[in-house]
Amino acid sequence: MSVVALEQNINAFDVERVREDFPALHQDVSGHSLVYLDNGASTQKPQSVIDAVQNFYAHDYSNVHRGIHTLSQRATDHFEAARSKVRQFINAGSDAEIIFTSGTTAAINLVAHSFARMGLQAGDEIIISAIEHHSNIVPWQLLEQEIGIKLRIIPINQQGELLFDEYLKLLNDRTRLVAVTQLSNALGTITPLKEIITAAHDIGAKVLVDGAQAVAHATVDVQELDCDFYAFSGHKLFSPTGIGILYGKHELLDAMPPYQSGGEMIKEVSFSGSTFNELPHKFEAGTPNIAGAIGLGAGIDYIQSLGLEAIRQHEQDVLDYATEQMLFIDGLRIIGTAAQKASILSFELNGAHASDLGTLLDHQGVAVRVGHHCAMPVMEFFGVSATTRASLAMYNSKTDIDRLVAAVQRAADMLN
Ligand code: PLP
Repeated sequence: MSVVALEQNINAFDVERVREDFPALHQDVSGHSLVYLDNGASTQKPQSVIDAVQNFYAHDYSNVHRGIHTLSQRATDHFEAARSKVRQFINAGSDAEIIFTSGTTAAINLVAHSFARMGLQAGDEIIISAIEHHSNIVPWQLLEQEIGIKLRIIPINQQGELLFDEYLKLLNDRTRLVAVTQLSNALGTITPLKEIITAAHDIGAKVLVDGAQAVAHATVDVQELDCDFYAFSGHKLFSPTGIGILYGKHELLDAMPPYQSGGEMIKEVSFSGSTFNELPHKFEAGTPNIAGAIGLGAGIDYIQSLGLEAIRQHEQDVLDYATEQMLFIDGLRIIGTAAQKASILSFELNGAHASDLGTLLDHQGVAVRVGHHCAMPVMEFFGVSATTRASLAMYNSKTDIDRLVAAVQRAADMLN
């Protein structure tokens, strides 16, 4: 073998090896070996994450912070070490900028309540895009009703790409916040984040990035992006449910009022008034999801052991293959054909109801998601009530795609 070939071989992403780390992938469903293609909804967990959570409960479990006893100190050390891992994973400037939340939805709501509700006034504008998940639409709609902000929407084209020139037209001196996804869960569109952020900053607006889908598929560097807030969920990152992150620039978080209140987020409490804790604790009222945070730290360790660039390239290769193969199926239309796309393959099949299709695929051991994917405005734009969505993770292989294509073809034959 030549040196170049040897190097390529060493660097090759070994998907079969990766699959061994995920116990849930090795089971039969409906008499067939499972093909798990519902990663946009949630990812499976590697053994190292399962072990980290189990070891914590078995050996180190206690509540965190302020405890003088050994277990409490150990639990606090593990919890804070997980925060540092997150900080390093997204290249934030300090641990104080990493707020543990229960997920992306909670992180966006934190910004909506603390930054926007308490800082914005009637007539101020917030821009979102037409491809947002409901969790990045509804909090802003509530603010429209409650304080009279105006919500503006960046339109899309038939490929599901944002119309950048239209975005530029929406920006004005009333724009306070631009809240956009990095990767659409319904279409797979990757948005031009850097350009969106630069244009928003040029007119003095802040930017919140919904990174729920993006973070498992490509390297995120919040300082390089220069976003003001970045939200994501652990469960889409091979880690437990009920844990998520809000990154925020220090000076912004520092200036923002607390969102929820109670224990942990205070410095002093008396009946004449209370003072608030330092960042990040000011935004972490109550006992946090300690095991979830520790599991997230283990999930990050796992991803970093493989390398996000290798993961990205592998997934792109599998997505390109899937797109090519699916188009051989008569009557199949892919919804979401942006030039910059990752991980998601949404489609409809002539005459077939998505839930019938999903059921027929499940009967062949293939797990996909059907429905509106919490992106009803996207469905409306494309004139469908639902799509069938295959969503990839690093452990999916071309063999999984062959199984998907065969299963869809079989279902198509049955439904026609
Ligand atoms: N944003 C996007 C793009 C998503 O795909 C999702 C979940 O599917 C969310 C936000 C909400 O994430 P969570 O339910 O983990 O809060």
